[in-house]
Amino acid sequence: MDGFLLTYEGFDPADEGLREALTSTGNGYLCTRGAAEWEDADGVHYPGSYVHGGYNRETTILSGLPVLNEDLVNMPNWLVLQLRIEGGDVIRLADVELLGYRHELNIRCATVIRGLRFRDRFGRLTTLHSRRFVSMADAHHAGIEWTLVPENWSGRVEVVAAIDGRVSNAGVARYQQLEGRHLNPVGPRTLGPEVIALKAETRQSNLYISDAARTRVFAGDEQLPVERRLYQMEDYVQQVLGFGVHEGAATRVEKMVTFYTSRDPAVSDTLVRAATSVARHTDFAASFERHAAAWEELWRVCDMRVSGNERVQLLLRLHIAHVLQVCSPNTADLDAGMPARGLNGEAYRGHVFWDEIYAFPFFNVRLPEVTRGLLMYRYRRIGEARAAAREAGFRGAMFPWQSGSEGTEETQRVHLNPVSGQWEPDLSRNQRHVNAAIFYNIWHYFQTSRDQAFLRDYGAEIMLEITRFWASIAYFNPERERYEIHGVMGPDEFHDKYPDAVEGGLRNNAYTNVMVAWLCGIAGELLALLPASRTEALRERLGIGDGELAVWQDMSRRMFVPFHGDGIISQFEGYEDLEELDWDAYRAKYGNIQRLDRILRAEGKDPNRYKVTKQADTVMLFFLFRQEGLREIFGRLGYGFRADTVTRNIAYYDRRTSHGSTLSFVTHAGVLAAIDPESSWERFLVALQSDAEDIQGGTTKEGIHMGVMAGTLDLVQRSYAGIYIRDDVLCFDPRLPSQLRGLSFSMRCREAPIQVTLTGDRLTLAVRAEGASRPVRVAVRDDVRELNVGDQAVFELSRNPAATAPSAQD
Ligand code: BGC
Repeated sequence: MDGFLLTYEGFDPADEGLREALTSTGNGYLCTRGAAEWEDADGVHYPGSYVHGGYNRETTILSGLPVLNEDLVNMPNWLVLQLRIEGGDVIRLADVELLGYRHELNIRCATVIRGLRFRDRFGRLTTLHSRRFVSMADAHHAGIEWTLVPENWSGRVEVVAAIDGRVSNAGVARYQQLEGRHLNPVGPRTLGPEVIALKAETRQSNLYISDAARTRVFAGDEQLPVERRLYQMEDYVQQVLGFGVHEGAATRVEKMVTFYTSRDPAVSDTLVRAATSVARHTDFAASFERHAAAWEELWRVCDMRVSGNERVQLLLRLHIAHVLQVCSPNTADLDAGMPARGLNGEAYRGHVFWDEIYAFPFFNVRLPEVTRGLLMYRYRRIGEARAAAREAGFRGAMFPWQSGSEGTEETQRVHLNPVSGQWEPDLSRNQRHVNAAIFYNIWHYFQTSRDQAFLRDYGAEIMLEITRFWASIAYFNPERERYEIHGVMGPDEFHDKYPDAVEGGLRNNAYTNVMVAWLCGIAGELLALLPASRTEALRERLGIGDGELAVWQDMSRRMFVPFHGDGIISQFEGYEDLEELDWDAYRAKYGNIQRLDRILRAEGKDPNRYKVTKQADTVMLFFLFRQEGLREIFGRLGYGFRADTVTRNIAYYDRRTSHGSTLSFVTHAGVLAAIDPESSWERFLVALQSDAEDIQGGTTKEGIHMGVMAGTLDLVQRSYAGIYIRDDVLCFDPRLPSQLRGLSFSMRCREAPIQVTLTGDRLTLAVRAEGASRPVRVAVRDDVRELNVGDQAVFELSRNPAATAPSAQD
């Protein structure tokens, strides 16, 4: 199965946590780590299941002080399936001699597979093959199938099938001192002889969760009679199935599972719902077939093919699959945000940050309904954002840096530095730039989808309220005759205040100020895009007078942007006064210095003192805007934008960036695509491997990085195929890396399904006949063509476009 298999040979306890995260299986509603069914949570294994919106708050007393955190709850473990041979102990990997072991993720149909051959201490040789999936077709369904073959023995086995509610959140070592209990038991239930079910409730948020399982045993297609024993407690239920097995003969065990929560639509009692639904569940084969067909449909829309590098192909597909396992069409109708670490682990507590800015471009041109659904998560929380702005003395809506169930600020006030073991203050909530990202995301969703209804009913309101927030946090400095923003942080989390300052925050983060100048300009245009009656109603309801519109206009022309040196945009005011760090010395001493902040603090030094940047900050501007767009923004602001502004700034910050967030590799790969293709490719490869190879040494086992995974896909389409929209035209500015022979993918632009095929010297665009009725205009540079359904356009490209054509980023 070319390009669709992630395979691990041999069992490696040290690697198991990482493998579990990377072989998670999910459907955009529920996602479960790829832990072995028979293992409990211990230092090696960590079965974990997470569902969108499944949050709970708990208080921990830390040094006498209460610390409140909201976590995405680890749900009851539905996996439990254990084997006992001839009345012996449950078979665990550590207790048997493994003669063969393979752990795989079949990326194509998001199925986790384990094959093992072992000898137990009585010399019995057994093979066990396990397959399991969380159904993309039926969002509440999942299934496990075991095939058991005794190789040199016959006898009696017992299979324990359980649902375990005695779980806690214990997946992240750094959080170990924090309260991890989130579930209260409600009780078990059985339905007929084959079905067991368990209900639990989150301790504070009163979310009911129920799992049900129906376990049966088969020889071929024939169901075998088995002896069943039930054991239940209030937070655990199990059935033990006893049956005979014969040397050389395969016996199959199927555990079909359903999962519901009280947030689901069309549910009364979750326990009854889960039990009834599982009793109606088809068998593994039929259910799997529906699941696989749903994935096939998704691949038709989402696959990206590259030729010339198999590893790159595999990792791109791995990323596509993971992104879809967290956010799929099943997510669109949920009240779900995009958790930065997926539904694959507990890092960042399942919170929603700004990372969706890296993910939406992938969805916008394939599954725009997913972006829409995730944007609705923001809209539903606009009330809290308004309250937050008010409480901070501002107007409009101020969305939180870390968002969870209700849209209140969930950023913790202290965090543990694992290098020093100290709890340190966390000022990162000052990253108000998340509000610019939300604005940008709505605008770009609208640009690709032309979803007028969304803009009219929800999007415009968020955008206007965000603009109003920025207008109120900004202040007009009469000396400079410019608007300034103080007390915020940019994306670079190494700088959260001035050295020795008591108060958090910085003055005039350039990224933030330029974003604000841009969005103030768009906000002015926005009202003209809505039906007149809606514009009037919105203005009236929000009380937007002409004076306010005039201020926004003015801000789009007079935001302050700090510069230093020769055309270098200062990351924030005063950046040039910071000390340079001896990067070589730190590299020599510590090796990996991505998390320089932790290293410096452990040395008793404040990172705020140095010109060290965690991740792309100023450089984000060149990632989000094309050069002509930036030139326009800077021009309107009355600042010069030199031919070398982009290259000089990227080079300046590249030297001072530790890439302590892997998002930074995506950003730098993107901006370098036109300037330095070799370096771009290098960074792209790092981003592409960052989770698969766990380059941060231990973070991926705590959850995949959704922004990075989706960001690598965006790089292919936006930086290498070079797609962008200008004046209603879908434009291409291709820069195929020399390391690839070609790439192809399908996309959708304003309903039109387009197949894109790029080789070194040719770009072919074909509009598939799938119901698109309106023509679409496409262009390579100034060669604009109109395509109707069924049409194909071939653009001949010069061999080295980077050298011959002026580009966005040169
Ligand atoms: C990064 C943020 C990001 C967050 C969640 C942090 O390490 O600095 O930019 O939003 O992780 O992924």
